Amino acid sequence: MPDYLAGKQAKDFTHMINDEYKKILSDNSLRITNPRLEIIKILRENHKPLTIAEIHKKIKNRKTDLATVYRTLNSFIKAKFVNEINFNDEYKRYELIIDRHHHHHIVCNVCKKIENIDRCITNEIEKDLKKKGYEDISHSLEFFGTCSECKELIK
Ligand SMILES: [Zn+2]
Ligand SMILES: [Zn+2]
Ligand SMILES: [Zn+2]
Repeated sequence: MPDYLAGKQAKDFTHMINDEYKKILSDNSLRITNPRLEIIKILRENHKPLTIAEIHKKIKNRKTDLATVYRTLNSFIKAKFVNEINFNDEYKRYELIIDRHHHHHIVCNVCKKIENIDRCITNEIEKDLKKKGYEDISHSLEFFGTCSECKELIK
């Protein structure tokens, strides 16, 4: 593809994206770039934590390589609008936490399905930690189990 066409495509693409994604970047003093916008869009449209490979596969612009995805996610984590989740397997997963209230997950041991848990039980612990003088407290707590469908199959 000639350069001027590639440029035009990139421009159209930016135009299509909701201003909302640009606002997330500017609110967090991050420069607006196409890979950043596209990664936010992917995280926004997928309501479950995604691995770097899954995010990369969904990116339409082939010039965006894995290293860029990795760097971009790290800048989002630093800005605290993306959460890194560890389900104790070899992959880290990423989830947008803007506009979504704090929640946890349960992963099925068999089919690896991920479900959200909207209730959090750790407020008491955080209160205690604050009393001890800790600031900027955060936590990550994931659950593991065999889901009802898999339980039926195993029987
Ligand atoms: Zn989640
Ligand atoms: Zn299952
Ligand atoms: Zn919690």
